[in-house]
Amino acid sequence: IEAGLDMGIVNAGQLAVYEEVPKKLRDLVEDVIFNRHPEATDALVDYAEQVRGTGKKRTEDLSWREGSLVERFKHALLHGLVKFIDEDVAEALATYDAPLEIIEGPLMEGMGVVGELFGAGKMFLPQVVKSARVMQKAVALIEPHMEREANTSRGKLLLATVKGDVHDIGKNIVGVVLACNNYEIIDLGVMVPAATILDTAVEQGVDIVGLSGLITPSLDEMAAVAQEMARREMTQPLLIGGATTSRQHTAVKIAPRYEQPTAHVLDASRAVNVVSDLLDEQRKKTFVEQNNASQDQLRYVYSQRQDDPVRTLDEARANARECAFEALPTPAFLGRRELEVPLAELVPLIDWTFFFHAWELKGSYPSLLDDPEKGAAARELHGHALEMLERIQADGSLRAKAVLGFWKAHREGDDVVLQDEGGAEVWRLPMLRNQATLSEGRANESLADFVAPAADGQPVDHLGAFAVTAGLGADELAAAYERDHDDYNAILVKALADRLAEAAAEWCHRKAREAWGITDGESGEAGDLLAERFRGIRPAFGYPACPDHGPKQRLFELLDAPALGMSLTESGAMLPAASVSGLVFAHPDCHYFSVGRIDRDQIADYAARCGDEVEVVEKRLGSWLAYDPDAPTL
Ligand code: SAH
Repeated sequence: IEAGLDMGIVNAGQLAVYEEVPKKLRDLVEDVIFNRHPEATDALVDYAEQVRGTGKKRTEDLSWREGSLVERFKHALLHGLVKFIDEDVAEALATYDAPLEIIEGPLMEGMGVVGELFGAGKMFLPQVVKSARVMQKAVALIEPHMEREANTSRGKLLLATVKGDVHDIGKNIVGVVLACNNYEIIDLGVMVPAATILDTAVEQGVDIVGLSGLITPSLDEMAAVAQEMARREMTQPLLIGGATTSRQHTAVKIAPRYEQPTAHVLDASRAVNVVSDLLDEQRKKTFVEQNNASQDQLRYVYSQRQDDPVRTLDEARANARECAFEALPTPAFLGRRELEVPLAELVPLIDWTFFFHAWELKGSYPSLLDDPEKGAAARELHGHALEMLERIQADGSLRAKAVLGFWKAHREGDDVVLQDEGGAEVWRLPMLRNQATLSEGRANESLADFVAPAADGQPVDHLGAFAVTAGLGADELAAAYERDHDDYNAILVKALADRLAEAAAEWCHRKAREAWGITDGESGEAGDLLAERFRGIRPAFGYPACPDHGPKQRLFELLDAPALGMSLTESGAMLPAASVSGLVFAHPDCHYFSVGRIDRDQIADYAARCGDEVEVVEKRLGSWLAYDPDAPTL
């Protein structure tokens, strides 16, 4: 004991909120760990003697129920416990003079602490959403007793996922976190046209407008909303968020269209700071100055990059990848086939790292569960997710479906031509090609390179295509939770449905390789599947090797995906939101790559091959263009 402590071991299974460790105990422990004075160890040992018990049973610790009403509210909020909220609200209604005082007093103070701990990195998003659930349930119980609405909000925000896009997990999370911090949120949901967003913003007198989107066409839609805000001479700051959005895109394509502050918000934890800065006269000035300076810088970097030379389409084609096409495998069936998707087979294929990502718990699974800071939050969330998976499998409230198909295929230039069994052309699919100035020896690839040209005029190669969804029932289930003031479970359902859809894609891809007979050397184990240790790829439209969402329309027809209950928005987003679709390639050389920046010559060529107007294609591929389509040509 004299030697002092060299190393401590943390039992990650018993991590408590640090601030919650009783002060006396915390000081004693810190004295030992930081070796603050020679008697530290003895003091801790003495203290341990005092609290020695007869062995504690692991039962629910309800000692907090003995505290005052205010303490109980605070405890319930901090720990996200809804179990006693009816009881405590009933008691509060009987003791407080006015119902509003309960909200403005203990509840808002409790949420204030939650907000502070979150801001300081001492609480994590899933815990905050759980706390918000306690608040929402309490408010719902109190409101019927109030004569007037509580109006204590620090500001009013409008949130919407833009037209053509259907994803809302990130937006919902931001809404919950802002609401916790006492902002009033008007959430217009998904697929919201610009006019609805802006009319509502004006009617409701909101202070800030927030736009969300996941797929690339939404970037263009956001720019259009910004332009419309300028035309209407609106004054609200504009916030941009969602998976494909970026600081750079916001700086280059959105901010220049609207004179008011336009900022990119990376995640929910940052949203609170940005919003509070924007709504404070003094801090707003500083924020706007910094935002402008950083956006100027980003625009400069972008303009420099735009000057990087790209190859002409002819040069790029001359530098295509040359694959050898020998012993091409033949799939076991042709045409489309619907597959039964047992949810139980999907569960082991869930990529949990991405699940935790959606909840802003960054790190890789499973080591994240043992993370000294985030581990406790991650384990609790994981437990709830596993329970939810059991429930939806047992009651069938969430369903998955898949369709897989194979067609004879051959390459003609950069097109892949699909034929039915009888040889009739069913789809001429134009592919894009990388045009970057690559180093010697690296090819300018196109997915078309991985399909064999017709030999002797006859195709011997094939292409697969698939569509899967695990979102059937998800919206209904989430809506039921929302009606019960339970955003935590509503978000959980959607996040799990997304993961199950990705798992279904993995599962379906494996079925495709089996049908194609190319599973030799594959272990078939979940870890190897998720690490893509197998032959072939399943590129999805909208992703870097085939960034155009346009071909999804024909893909859906060919597969008859609507027969599974799937559909597409005008931007090519899939409904239900938890869906995946794409192509399946078997060539051993094929791999994911990015087409990168696409120049005018290829856009003109591609538009002609698609049978679309150049302007339409430029709009679809806006963020991939190597040029500014609005700049005058010489
Ligand atoms: N297991 C992950 C899924 C990884 S996403 C999850 O659960 O979320 C990987 C998929 O994205 C690939 O299978 C492919 O469908 C798509 N993808 C990735 N990179 C791509 C690229 N460059 N071009 C086309 N599709 C790509």
